[in-house]
Amino acid sequence: MADPEIYQAQTVVVGAGVVGLAIARKLAQQGQEVLVLEAGDRFGEGISSRNSEVVHGGLYYPEHSLKALLCVEGRQALYDYCHTRRLPVRKCGKWVVAGEAEAGQLVRIREQAQKNGVELELVDKKAVARKLPGVVAGAALHSPETGIIDSHALMLALLGELEDAGGQLICRAPVVGIVTETDGYRLEVAGESPCWLKTEQVVNSAGLGAVPLASCWKGMPEQQIPRQRYARGVYFSYGGKHPFDSLVYPVPEPGGLGIHLTLDLAGQARFGPDVEWVDTPDYRVDPARAQAFTGSISRWWPALDPARLQPAYAGIRPKLHGPNESFADFRIDGPESHGLPGVVHLFGIESPGLTASLAIANRVAGLLRE
Ligand SMILES: Cc1cc2nc3c(=O)[nH]c(=O)nc-3n(C[C@H](O)[C@H](O)[C@H](O)COP(=O)(O)OP(=O)(O)OC[C@H]3O[C@@H](n4cnc5c(N)ncnc54)[C@H](O)[C@@H]3O)c2cc1C
Repeated sequence: MADPEIYQAQTVVVGAGVVGLAIARKLAQQGQEVLVLEAGDRFGEGISSRNSEVVHGGLYYPEHSLKALLCVEGRQALYDYCHTRRLPVRKCGKWVVAGEAEAGQLVRIREQAQKNGVELELVDKKAVARKLPGVVAGAALHSPETGIIDSHALMLALLGELEDAGGQLICRAPVVGIVTETDGYRLEVAGESPCWLKTEQVVNSAGLGAVPLASCWKGMPEQQIPRQRYARGVYFSYGGKHPFDSLVYPVPEPGGLGIHLTLDLAGQARFGPDVEWVDTPDYRVDPARAQAFTGSISRWWPALDPARLQPAYAGIRPKLHGPNESFADFRIDGPESHGLPGVVHLFGIESPGLTASLAIANRVAGLLRE
């Protein structure tokens, strides 16, 4: 059998989720020759199509963390991007509701949000009853900047602009190995048309595949590869009418933001995601989890009709911390961390990665310029 062909590209982005596409578009618009390699049949079928599609305000993350900075910067950039391209987006706002005993947590969340440059309004029980009929809470926070977005439409727009700038997406092209060479990197691409690809720059934006990809990279220092953990979150859709026109969240739980109510752009309600630590990505939704959902939601919305909860879909968070460990930030590792020129690894890009995608792209472009 003949040896696989060897191709060349200036910059390769591995992974065509919202983050990989945003990065590729940015680099192509800066004049680089960019190729995006995607293992799947289509773009955006990983984490980017299994989330809440919320444009987050940036309330909870520690100040100066990448999650806080890139969420706030990314949110503003995303609203501007959607408005100028007429992409579907709605700043519907979000409420964080707390029982009497949890009201102190709201004060702490508001303080944290303020440190992140995000203003929230704290309202009492009476105001909750007025503004959120049917919701029972001792107090609530209102985040007017939170919104909802159509993530697929966003990715389609990013892909279109990538192609307009001369970039290219190749699907069914899993990268199964990378070798560091003296003059760049050699990527082994499997799939339908196995080949080698020589490149000067590589961005590892493979989502759940980012740690595995770094692990099959000859020349990548092992101590710079984090341990990957997975936290599944399942969603239940809520059939029929409901009284909500903004998002409603409980106070956060370890590993996630708590089972919340989100709306899609057509106004359909869904609840989720919960947090379940799993050993491998597995997208099954156990209908029996509806019981725990009912218990959690009816604490703040007693009128919930459990019969209208239907198993919907699951997403997997790429976690850099375990169940009993505290906050872990995004890792956007440039040459300064691992010593490989022209390489950026993105690890742990869980929420708010969709909101932050355009800001992450700016940061990666900056790291590659340095
Ligand atoms: C349950 C859940 C809810 C969330 N809710 C929100 C939210 O409301 N708002 C928000 O801002 N963020 C949210 N997020 C986070 C957000 O969805 C992610 O941060 C974002 O989608 C990550 O995009 P990505 O491009 O890094 O990853 P992905 O979309 O997973 O893209 C990575 C791509 O890489 C490909 N790939 C993997 N390995 C290889 C390889 N070796 N070769 C080639 N291709 C490869 C995969 O097939 C995949 O298409 C949520 C996440 C989860 C899990």
